[in-house]
Amino acid sequence: MPTDPSRSLLPKCIDARKLAQREQSLDGILPPDALERLNSAVESIDGAISAELRFGRDLQGRLTVRGRVTGTVELLCQRCLHPVREQLEAPFYWGIVWSEAQGKSLPRDLDPVIQGGDELDLYQILEDEILLNLPMVAYHQEKCVPKGHFQFGESDTEAGGQRENPFKVLEQLKGSSGKS
Ligand SMILES: [Zn+2]
Repeated sequence: MPTDPSRSLLPKCIDARKLAQREQSLDGILPPDALERLNSAVESIDGAISAELRFGRDLQGRLTVRGRVTGTVELLCQRCLHPVREQLEAPFYWGIVWSEAQGKSLPRDLDPVIQGGDELDLYQILEDEILLNLPMVAYHQEKCVPKGHFQFGESDTEAGGQRENPFKVLEQLKGSSGKS
């Protein structure tokens, strides 16, 4: 999938404090080769990972960033071990702080993001967000196991036909443990 040329690349380094004081916004995409950790965590990144960020202040005057990272990746289906496409959406609400100690004083709905100096590595923290939102396991929505591995429901019976229906087994289990 070609990346949309109208979407600009996000800057790698930002001064989040300054952007928040000016209540600015950023929208754009992350360059795929900057996402090494994500690349090694998934089968492939499908198209662009994009992000939108709204810088500003909360009611108490804290510097905040609200936004989300979105993208599509391919993971291995844990049933058939073929790639399965997963749509990712990672919303976030950051509080920009100077230090870890200051981060601890933030209210719970704000995730501390530490900018100790003049700049913040935006790619790294956005990659953190998307990694946190990766599903632990992925499965195809449709039946994906090759015919003959398992057999569910009323599909064609093999020669001999006496295959155990897994739902029937479940019913038996329920029956034996339930009303006796
Ligand atoms: Zn599958």
